[in-house]
Amino acid sequence: MASRLTEFAEKDTYTKCGKRVHIYSNIDFKEELSVMEKYGSEGVGLYRSESLFVSRGKAPSEEEQYNYYKDLAACLAPKPLTIRLFDVGGDKLLVSSYKEQNPNLGWRGIRVLIDVPDILENQVRAMLRANVHGNIKMLLPMIASMEEVFLIKRRISEISQKLKSERALFNEALPIGVMVEMPAAVEIVDELLAEVDFLSVGTNDLIQYTLAVDRNNDVVQDLYRKFHPAIIRMIARVIKRAKHAGSSVSICGEMAADPLAAPLLLGLGLDEFSVVNSSIPELKKTISSCAIQDAEQLAARCLELPTTEKIEQTLKHFSVHNT
Ligand code: PEP
Ligand code: MG
Repeated sequence: MASRLTEFAEKDTYTKCGKRVHIYSNIDFKEELSVMEKYGSEGVGLYRSESLFVSRGKAPSEEEQYNYYKDLAACLAPKPLTIRLFDVGGDKLLVSSYKEQNPNLGWRGIRVLIDVPDILENQVRAMLRANVHGNIKMLLPMIASMEEVFLIKRRISEISQKLKSERALFNEALPIGVMVEMPAAVEIVDELLAEVDFLSVGTNDLIQYTLAVDRNNDVVQDLYRKFHPAIIRMIARVIKRAKHAGSSVSICGEMAADPLAAPLLLGLGLDEFSVVNSSIPELKKTISSCAIQDAEQLAARCLELPTTEKIEQTLKHFSVHNT
């Protein structure tokens, strides 16, 4: 079994009928790059840069970030390195001593970056300077409105201007993408697509915020349902709109790594998955045993179903007979 998985890991990924599918890695640390190579990952779809706070216990300096991103980008080039701007706050790292009653609905992600310009400026400067190979992409976390996107883009452009005036060496050709992880982002997906270069669906939070179920609360874990009809329909809509706009869209939430979800996601039109390295071999195996026509029929059926239970049953039935 293990050797069969390794065999899949070393090859590019195609469905049974020959459609090319791209598999990227979710990483927290530089040390994970060597495993990516082994599993045939095509680059980093999500680097959770807030991990840099962990080792330092505070916001890393521009130079620390520059060195870290430069090394990562150089090791990966020409493969992409998608750096998500610090998603601090919420259930993640605290940047303030103020105790929030509802941290996941509080001061988190882009909200912190907007309110603390120094943190944003240091990170954006470091990324622009580190982009010497042109393979860095920037991902904005926890976007709920167009105002946030406009504001961040304006700040990025001001930071670029400043670097220019300092005659610093940098590369501003850096695609900007948005995490779709709130129902609000799904609702404004067309407007987002008009402003950014790519989308990445963060199902971990999308499930939490759509179903009002804390992703870390054991008491309500049975209600945290990735196959809830509302979640499936939201993902379907985001993929459809992104394809219509000619933009790239991936899923970087844990759902992308679930072998039961893979045929459904393929059937919804997804061709970019970003998952933890250890999930890559199994995911590649599942995708390679799946034909798009069957997956599309499966997806169409699931989009009509009214309950999580029925969707899960349908996916299990498909998995037993088709993968
Ligand atoms: C997500 O929300 O699905 C995601 C990938 O981001 P994180 O798990 O870091 O919140
Ligand atoms: Mg998230």
